[in-house]
Amino acid sequence: MICSVEQCNGAGDCRKSTLIGGTLCPSYKVSHNETMSTRARANIIRETLTHGINGLTLEAPELQEVLDSCLACKGCRSECPSNVDMTRIRAELLQQIHDHKGTPLRSWMVARMASVQQLGHIVAPLYNLMATWKLSSSIIKRIVSFAPERNIPTLSLKTMRSQWSSCGGQQSAVSRQQKKLTHSHIHTFTHSQGTLFLFADEFTNYMEAELGITFANLLTRLGYNVIIPKHVESGRAAISKGCLKLAKKYATRNVELLADIVSDESPLVGIEPSCILSFRDEYPDLVPIAMRKKAKQLGNNALLFDEFLVREMKKGNISPDDFKDTPVEIWLHGHCHQKALVGIEKTVEMFSLLSGATVHRIASGCCGMAGSFGYEKEHYKTSLAIGEMILFPTVRKAVSGSNESVPMFVAAPGTSCRQQILDGTGVHAVHPIEIMYRMLK
Ligand code: SF4
Ligand code: SF4
Repeated sequence: MICSVEQCNGAGDCRKSTLIGGTLCPSYKVSHNETMSTRARANIIRETLTHGINGLTLEAPELQEVLDSCLACKGCRSECPSNVDMTRIRAELLQQIHDHKGTPLRSWMVARMASVQQLGHIVAPLYNLMATWKLSSSIIKRIVSFAPERNIPTLSLKTMRSQWSSCGGQQSAVSRQQKKLTHSHIHTFTHSQGTLFLFADEFTNYMEAELGITFANLLTRLGYNVIIPKHVESGRAAISKGCLKLAKKYATRNVELLADIVSDESPLVGIEPSCILSFRDEYPDLVPIAMRKKAKQLGNNALLFDEFLVREMKKGNISPDDFKDTPVEIWLHGHCHQKALVGIEKTVEMFSLLSGATVHRIASGCCGMAGSFGYEKEHYKTSLAIGEMILFPTVRKAVSGSNESVPMFVAAPGTSCRQQILDGTGVHAVHPIEIMYRMLK
């Protein structure tokens, strides 16, 4: 960690203005306060770790402040000239602070949100009532220090996994080879284009099951065997709250369950960028050293929805002939982890399958929600201010300037980005794969 913070050369590119564009660094851009820059975080962490001078310890308020205001958006990882990766440094340091002082209730809860939702699913209507009824939701938000203005996300009544399973019950053809391949994994179709493993990430599985089914249906109609394999949650929320020991358990289990069945030929494909990209970015460092090689191989074959569809387009397995060529206007906001690790070019390339599409890239950085950051009471205003820098005004302008005769979509692959756009503008953004599905012939 000390080597990582020492990479900062102090030149201050992390103090860029909004006018220059990019993601780095949203908390500085919105505050123009040095203590909210990547450089300040690197400096304070370096002081704490090397000297502990001026009374800086793991409990120093200065350290808490700089860690607390970081959105873990990974903007610095790709845009800082020295690639200071504050998302990773922050997570490692937070784990040390948790070890020292205990994990705060909110971080503990958010890190285990998928487990809470899994339990909640047993009584989904009651969970949703509690989440939406004014009195109960305000009590919950007060307990976990969420902003009263935010809505607690509700659950789909049936998970993506169970919907796909019951849909599969109506399909009879499961080949012996696939049964062997999938072991206890749950669902297969017989088609000609190849097999892929669909990652039922915790956000899609519990909260947006219909989106997951839409993607599975899109792939099936394009001729792929879709298997939702047995796996555990990605651990994204645990990583973001600095609960790395918990994240390590999830990463290790997923590598155990998936590494031997996923391959270049049958990749693992994901819907939510922050979850599937964890396989590539964090897993190789989270798992025990003996599993690192397997984790890297798995990460190389873990693809985002757009990477998979573009790959298949290049192989000639999918073509514009599969989709309608009617005009459609798309305003695209990429997820900040996607921008930092792989870029949004593949999403734009995927939309080239829609001959009538006009794609506008929104020049936004992080949307400001960043997982639970925007839900947290003390970050609510900062979160909305970050959205107001570019994203919200562009979305409002796009909607007000749209032509009624041409369908217009605001597209955002991130679950929290779509929620932030809704909360900030009232516009329902969709996942890019929903547009692809609607445009299927
Ligand atoms: S964090 Fe990166 S961009 Fe900021 S001062 Fe250090 S090296 Fe420069
Ligand atoms: S992760 Fe994002 S918010 Fe945190 S220092 Fe890097 S650019 Fe700034």
